[in-house]
Amino acid sequence: MPNPDTIQAGKVVSFHYTLTDDAGKVLDTSSGGQPMDYLHGAENIVPGLEEEMDGHAVGDKLKAIVDPESGYGERIATDPQPIPRDAFPDDVELRPGMQFAAEGPDGDLIPLWIAKVETEQVFVDPNHPLAGVTLHFAVEITGIRDATEEEQDHGHPHGPEGHVHTH
Ligand code: ZN
Repeated sequence: MPNPDTIQAGKVVSFHYTLTDDAGKVLDTSSGGQPMDYLHGAENIVPGLEEEMDGHAVGDKLKAIVDPESGYGERIATDPQPIPRDAFPDDVELRPGMQFAAEGPDGDLIPLWIAKVETEQVFVDPNHPLAGVTLHFAVEITGIRDATEEEQDHGHPHGPEGHVHTH
Protein backbone atom coordinates (compact mmCIF):
# COMPACT_ATOMS: atom_id res chain seq x y z
CA MET A 1 0.00 0.00 0.00
CA PRO A 2 1.29 3.51 -0.75
CA ASN A 3 1.64 5.90 2.19
CA PRO A 4 -1.92 7.36 2.54
CA ASP A 5 -0.52 10.87 3.08
CA THR A 6 1.23 11.01 -0.29
CA ILE A 7 -0.04 11.96 -3.72
CA GLN A 8 -1.93 9.16 -5.43
CA ALA A 9 -5.14 8.70 -7.44
CA GLY A 10 -8.18 10.09 -5.61
CA LYS A 11 -6.30 12.84 -3.76
CA VAL A 12 -6.97 16.55 -4.19
CA VAL A 13 -3.57 18.22 -4.29
CA SER A 14 -2.81 21.92 -3.75
CA PHE A 15 0.47 23.28 -5.05
CA HIS A 16 2.30 26.45 -5.92
CA TYR A 17 4.12 26.47 -9.21
CA THR A 18 6.25 28.57 -11.50
CA LEU A 19 6.36 27.55 -15.14
CA THR A 20 9.27 28.66 -17.31
CA ASP A 21 10.45 27.84 -20.81
CA ASP A 22 13.90 26.64 -21.95
CA ALA A 23 15.22 30.21 -21.77
CA GLY A 24 14.01 30.65 -18.19
CA LYS A 25 11.21 33.07 -19.13
CA VAL A 26 8.30 32.84 -16.68
CA LEU A 27 5.18 31.70 -18.56
CA ASP A 28 2.86 31.32 -15.60
CA THR A 29 3.04 31.26 -11.83
CA SER A 30 0.77 30.92 -8.81
CA SER A 31 3.22 32.94 -6.72
CA GLY A 32 1.46 35.75 -4.89
CA GLY A 33 -1.94 34.09 -5.36
CA GLN A 34 -3.81 30.99 -4.33
CA PRO A 35 -2.20 27.59 -4.87
CA MET A 36 -3.69 25.54 -7.67
CA ASP A 37 -5.87 22.51 -6.84
CA TYR A 38 -6.24 19.41 -8.96
CA LEU A 39 -7.57 15.87 -8.62
CA HIS A 40 -4.69 13.42 -9.02
CA GLY A 41 -5.26 10.69 -11.61
CA ALA A 42 -7.97 12.63 -13.44
CA GLU A 43 -5.80 14.35 -16.07
CA ASN A 44 -6.57 17.83 -14.68
CA ILE A 45 -2.94 18.82 -15.32
CA VAL A 46 -0.52 17.91 -18.10
CA PRO A 47 0.45 14.20 -17.95
CA GLY A 48 4.19 14.84 -17.58
CA LEU A 49 3.65 16.92 -14.43
CA GLU A 50 1.00 14.60 -12.97
CA GLU A 51 3.47 11.71 -13.25
CA GLU A 52 6.18 13.68 -11.40
CA MET A 53 3.76 14.60 -8.58
CA ASP A 54 2.99 10.96 -7.82
CA GLY A 55 4.15 9.82 -4.37
CA HIS A 56 5.16 13.28 -3.10
CA ALA A 57 4.14 14.65 0.32
CA VAL A 58 3.13 18.08 1.68
CA GLY A 59 6.15 20.39 1.85
CA ASP A 60 7.98 18.63 -0.98
CA LYS A 61 9.53 20.83 -3.62
CA LEU A 62 10.18 19.39 -7.02
CA LYS A 63 11.28 20.41 -10.45
CA ALA A 64 9.79 18.74 -13.50
CA ILE A 65 10.93 19.15 -17.09
CA VAL A 66 8.08 18.11 -19.36
CA ASP A 67 8.50 17.47 -23.09
CA PRO A 68 5.78 18.76 -25.41
CA GLU A 69 4.44 15.24 -25.97
CA SER A 70 3.78 14.93 -22.19
CA GLY A 71 2.73 18.60 -22.02
CA TYR A 72 0.53 20.56 -24.43
CA GLY A 73 1.43 18.53 -27.51
CA GLU A 74 3.69 19.07 -30.47
CA ARG A 75 3.01 22.16 -32.57
CA ILE A 76 1.11 21.49 -35.80
CA ALA A 77 2.59 23.51 -38.66
CA THR A 78 -0.28 25.70 -39.78
CA ASP A 79 -1.05 29.40 -40.00
CA PRO A 80 -3.91 30.74 -37.88
CA GLN A 81 -7.16 30.64 -39.85
CA PRO A 82 -9.60 33.57 -40.04
CA ILE A 83 -13.20 33.13 -38.86
CA PRO A 84 -15.81 35.93 -39.11
CA ARG A 85 -16.23 37.77 -35.79
CA ASP A 86 -20.00 37.26 -35.93
CA ALA A 87 -19.51 33.47 -35.78
CA PHE A 88 -18.77 34.06 -32.08
CA PRO A 89 -21.30 35.12 -29.45
CA ASP A 90 -21.66 38.94 -29.16
CA ASP A 91 -21.49 38.99 -25.39
CA VAL A 92 -18.10 37.30 -25.10
CA GLU A 93 -14.98 39.44 -25.04
CA LEU A 94 -12.52 37.60 -27.30
CA ARG A 95 -8.86 37.63 -26.28
CA PRO A 96 -5.74 35.94 -27.68
CA GLY A 97 -5.04 32.66 -25.88
CA MET A 98 -8.73 32.00 -25.19
CA GLN A 99 -9.80 28.42 -25.85
CA PHE A 100 -13.05 27.29 -27.36
CA ALA A 101 -14.35 24.25 -29.23
CA ALA A 102 -15.58 24.15 -32.81
CA GLU A 103 -17.65 21.37 -34.30
CA GLY A 104 -15.75 19.47 -36.98
CA PRO A 105 -17.25 17.95 -40.15
CA ASP A 106 -17.96 14.64 -38.38
CA GLY A 107 -19.55 16.33 -35.35
CA ASP A 108 -16.51 15.96 -33.10
CA LEU A 109 -15.49 18.95 -31.00
CA ILE A 110 -12.08 20.31 -32.01
CA PRO A 111 -10.24 22.52 -29.51
CA LEU A 112 -9.06 25.82 -30.96
CA TRP A 113 -7.23 28.80 -29.51
CA ILE A 114 -7.62 32.43 -30.48
CA ALA A 115 -4.39 33.77 -31.94
CA LYS A 116 -5.43 37.30 -32.97
CA VAL A 117 -8.61 39.40 -32.79
CA GLU A 118 -9.48 41.97 -35.45
CA THR A 119 -12.66 43.99 -35.97
CA GLU A 120 -14.16 41.76 -38.64
CA GLN A 121 -12.38 38.49 -38.12
CA VAL A 122 -10.76 36.31 -35.50
CA PHE A 123 -7.73 34.14 -36.24
CA VAL A 124 -7.80 30.70 -34.67
CA ASP A 125 -5.07 28.12 -34.23
CA PRO A 126 -5.42 24.37 -33.45
CA ASN A 127 -2.29 24.62 -31.30
CA HIS A 128 -2.40 25.25 -27.56
CA PRO A 129 -0.36 28.42 -26.94
CA LEU A 130 2.23 26.21 -25.17
CA ALA A 131 2.28 23.44 -27.81
CA GLY A 132 5.83 22.58 -28.81
CA VAL A 133 7.22 24.16 -25.63
CA THR A 134 9.32 22.19 -23.13
CA LEU A 135 7.79 23.06 -19.76
CA HIS A 136 9.99 23.64 -16.72
CA PHE A 137 7.89 23.44 -13.56
CA ALA A 138 9.10 24.39 -10.09
CA VAL A 139 6.48 23.07 -7.68
CA GLU A 140 5.84 23.14 -3.94
CA ILE A 141 3.15 20.84 -2.57
CA THR A 142 1.01 22.72 -0.03
CA GLY A 143 -1.90 20.35 0.61
CA ILE A 144 -3.13 16.80 0.05
CA ARG A 145 -6.59 15.53 1.03
CA ASP A 146 -8.97 12.76 0.02
CA ALA A 147 -11.33 13.76 -2.79
CA THR A 148 -15.03 13.63 -1.93
CA GLU A 149 -17.24 11.19 -3.80
CA GLU A 150 -18.72 14.10 -5.74
CA GLU A 151 -15.28 15.31 -6.77
CA GLN A 152 -14.33 11.80 -7.88
CA ASP A 153 -17.56 11.59 -9.93
CA HIS A 154 -16.90 14.95 -11.57
CA GLY A 155 -13.19 14.28 -12.11
CA HIS A 156 -12.09 17.62 -10.60
CA PRO A 157 -11.80 19.35 -7.22
CA HIS A 158 -14.44 21.68 -5.81
CA GLY A 159 -13.62 24.84 -3.91
CA PRO A 160 -14.16 25.46 -0.20
CA GLU A 161 -17.62 26.93 -1.00
CA GLY A 162 -18.65 23.64 -2.55
CA HIS A 163 -19.86 23.40 -6.09
CA VAL A 164 -19.03 26.73 -7.69
CA HIS A 165 -17.95 25.87 -11.21
CA THR A 166 -20.12 26.54 -14.21
CA HIS A 167 -20.52 23.35 -16.23
ZN1 ZN B 1 -17.92 19.47 -10.28
